Amino acid sequence: MNITIKKTANSRINEVDFDNLVFGKSVIDHMIECDYADGEWGDIKIHPTANFSLSPLSSSFHYGQTIFEGMKAYKSNGNISLFRPDQNFKRFNKSAERMMMPTFPEDKILEALKQLLELDQAWIPEGEGQSLYIRPTMIATEPTVMARHANQYKMFIIAFPVGTYFSGKVKVKIETEYSRAAQGGVGEAKCGGNYAGSFYPVNEAIKAGYDQVLWTDAATHTLLEEAGVMNLMFRINDTLYTPELSGSILRGITRKSLLQLAEDLGIKTEEKKLSISEIVEAHQNGSLKEAFGVGTAAIVSQIRQIDYNEQRMVLADCENSYALRLKEELYGIQTGKLEDKHQWIVSV
Ligand SMILES: *Cc1c(COP(=O)(O)O)cnc(C)c1O
Repeated sequence: MNITIKKTANSRINEVDFDNLVFGKSVIDHMIECDYADGEWGDIKIHPTANFSLSPLSSSFHYGQTIFEGMKAYKSNGNISLFRPDQNFKRFNKSAERMMMPTFPEDKILEALKQLLELDQAWIPEGEGQSLYIRPTMIATEPTVMARHANQYKMFIIAFPVGTYFSGKVKVKIETEYSRAAQGGVGEAKCGGNYAGSFYPVNEAIKAGYDQVLWTDAATHTLLEEAGVMNLMFRINDTLYTPELSGSILRGITRKSLLQLAEDLGIKTEEKKLSISEIVEAHQNGSLKEAFGVGTAAIVSQIRQIDYNEQRMVLADCENSYALRLKEELYGIQTGKLEDKHQWIVSV
């Protein structure tokens, strides 16, 4: 598998307002593209970011064989680094297997990504809270509408600079009608369809005045699973709880990393089935101190209000917030300001 590079003659970097970055607006000059056919991947091409053309028969359009990843590159003092890229590429391949798509050699994808980042290093912003968001994607391209897995695929990676992602504290409702994922389904895969199916219920929640929904298990709607497209954490008294991985919960890398950092800080953590009733009870007896979503884009998104049918749980600011403490710790490691004890950082 060779990696070829074709450079642009017209960089667009001067068109970018790095002080007002809009998520996904300014893609970097180059992208990675690689096609799969006849049972193997072709050469990896790094070339100027451009549209590609596909047959309208391409099966991803019809049957939704699409997967993706979300990861970030950071720059500090001119040094470029990635955060746990091995975890993203492992998960990419897990998603591929579940969606009956071909896996991609993890060392090759990382090597190509490093070359892309080196080529477009000027696009990686170094300001407070800024980074480069990287989106590896795979789609079925075989021109067939036969209802079976495709035999041709395209893997591509695009990237764009992002700024501080701060939405303020969010107001959520516990979703007990619709489901994001079910036991035995594809909730653990980072596939496009999981998102497509969530837009309607999320939009209904937004119309009702919420920012996001908390997903519950599809079978009983009594167990909490995720916070929109983030994993979910609660602080009850001084213990940090998160729903245990159930098969329908995405295996978040931020979730896993924050659990480790909490342990390092001496915070007790527990992964368990978390029922709505124990959260309601913890709120009633005053032990529910914090609730927050965790994921790559925002690291931590604090929740200020949770509605469950007629019940309203308002969370006041608390002292020594775990959410803020953990965010600071993780961001410090990602940007090279704090010691990387677990060797999570990969230099480019
Ligand atoms: C990507 C994703 C997350 C967060 O995963 P990270 O690896 O921490 O970014 C959580 N939930 C869902 C549904 C996701 O798609």
